[in-house]
Amino acid sequence: NASFDISKLIDTIDFAAKKHSFQKRNDPQGTPYINHPIGVAKNLTDAGIYDFATIQAAILHDTVEDTDTSFEEIEQQFGREVRDIVAECTDDKTLVKSERKRLQIETIPHKSKKAKEVKLADKLYNLRDVQRMAPVGWSKKRIQEYFMWAKQVTDGARGTNQKLEDQLDEIYSNGTFVY
Ligand code: NDP
Ligand code: ZN
Repeated sequence: NASFDISKLIDTIDFAAKKHSFQKRNDPQGTPYINHPIGVAKNLTDAGIYDFATIQAAILHDTVEDTDTSFEEIEQQFGREVRDIVAECTDDKTLVKSERKRLQIETIPHKSKKAKEVKLADKLYNLRDVQRMAPVGWSKKRIQEYFMWAKQVTDGARGTNQKLEDQLDEIYSNGTFVY
């Protein structure tokens, strides 16, 4: 039912926009944070992925990690499947950053296909964002380290979606040299 799906999609975007409304990306322009989850969802549809729960999870993927949103809230509003995909894409913020980075590399091979798709689309967006303009305070070394870490994560999701992987490979083959 088209009107039901459109309403549900807009509800999801509206929820994420409200949750992220005080946040900005760390680029020099301070781009509104919501541009990122919307762009991640677009990376999925551009790659031919139209599964509804996957698109919703992409839009919501940073709400629990970066705002006051709880998994219970996501489940109540958007259902169990969306909650589970978002949970798979959420770092445990009680851990130190280095441990969270290590865990992303270690755990991605064991995640569901839908979570892997969101993770690939997320890294694709962030790498392009870094390529577009260095985040505030990032040295060349830090940018290079970010690319190397991201590649280790996405390498653990090989065989998930060819279009996303081809776009990531394109970035890894010449991406860091724009600096
Ligand atoms: P961060 O995790 O601090 O930042 C990257 C994350 O920020 C992205 O994954 C993205 O996450 C979010 N983000 C917000 N705005 C942007 C933007 N404009 N462009 C891209 N991403 C954005 O970075 P790391 O800790 O991963 O640092 C990268 C590497 O550098 C690591 O290996 C780390 O060890 C190392 N490092 C080096 C330092 C140095 O000075 N040499 C200092 C600190 C770390 P989301 O999708 O959740 O929004
Ligand atoms: Zn993200």
